[in-house]
Amino acid sequence: MPLHVSCNFDSGNIVCLSADDPADIRLEIAKDNQSDFYMWFHFRLTGAKGTPCTLKIMNAAGAAYPKGWEDYRAVASTDRETWVRVPTSYADGVLTIEHTPATDAVWYAYFAPFSMERHADLVARAQQADGVTLDVLGETLDGQAMDLLRIDGGPGSEKRNFWAIARQHPGESMAEWWMEGFLARLLDPADRTARALREKATFHVVPNMNPDGSRRGHLRTNAGGANLNREWSEPAMDRSPEVFLVRQRMQTTGVDFCLDVHGDEALPYNFLAGMMGIPSLSETQKALQKVFSDALLAASPDFQTKYGYPDAKPGKGNMTLCSNWVAEEFGCLALTLEMPFKDNADRPDATFGWSPARCKAFGAAHLDAMAAVLAALD
Ligand SMILES: [Zn+2]
Repeated sequence: MPLHVSCNFDSGNIVCLSADDPADIRLEIAKDNQSDFYMWFHFRLTGAKGTPCTLKIMNAAGAAYPKGWEDYRAVASTDRETWVRVPTSYADGVLTIEHTPATDAVWYAYFAPFSMERHADLVARAQQADGVTLDVLGETLDGQAMDLLRIDGGPGSEKRNFWAIARQHPGESMAEWWMEGFLARLLDPADRTARALREKATFHVVPNMNPDGSRRGHLRTNAGGANLNREWSEPAMDRSPEVFLVRQRMQTTGVDFCLDVHGDEALPYNFLAGMMGIPSLSETQKALQKVFSDALLAASPDFQTKYGYPDAKPGKGNMTLCSNWVAEEFGCLALTLEMPFKDNADRPDATFGWSPARCKAFGAAHLDAMAAVLAALD
């Protein structure tokens, strides 16, 4: 049976240059539409059962973050549920995956994919819970719905408004795996922390900020090539409707806390970023950041504060970023969370690396940190 490479499906991305020789399968990653960014890949290989394969991504050097290929291992799956790490190396600008498929079809990806079908399942499941409203804020450039889940625990007055958004960068699929774990716990009626949080705060949750990029198999931009996390100071409906619509709703509800969930290509750690460079940074905001960070350290052994991005200098923050714009606009705590594509180097997992299961557990742990912030706000 001849080898065949395909990617014409949800979040697929690859260009097959040559699949004549299993020892020399040559591939390229396609750029995001109307953009030069690329790094996300997801494709299926068939016809290689039991055959040692060498898959080469020839244009890896030009990817958005070539440092992301160092000490990186791709994921593979035979059932599209369980994704395991496979031997991968990066040299001379080429990313090479060595793998012998155990089945007729095997899927490879940059990180475990989170499809728009799975997003639909997530939203459908969430709306079954008491107090959850699914609100469509509007449409993306490709005509997909911008889903917002509003989660209320009761009629209390003076409720806080907590926001959580994920996947502005669509290739960072770990962000929506995080959402799955976060929402499962937040909506669990038996979880006392979740119940207490929902009594005092209304949650506004956007599980996927970039449906078009997700479906198209982009790394970083929406359908029109806009990097959504550079659009927050001046979003426009014809360019970045995703940000325009969410920002508009934030201005209606007000924001007391905001977490924007991402993945980082290079650093093998979970870490927080953002806010320190905003012009109006207050002592209260700094104190709340410490409350959140300390509580997250206590809640999850997968979180750390030693490695991360350097803080922006005072007043020099990039105000086009979500967390900076929100922190400045609302004077609240607003943070960016980064998770690794690779693994958590403090607690490595040889089989799975950083994985959907670990993203979900980490998402659930964030309730404890949010509870600490809520207590500090009272
Ligand atoms: Zn990101």
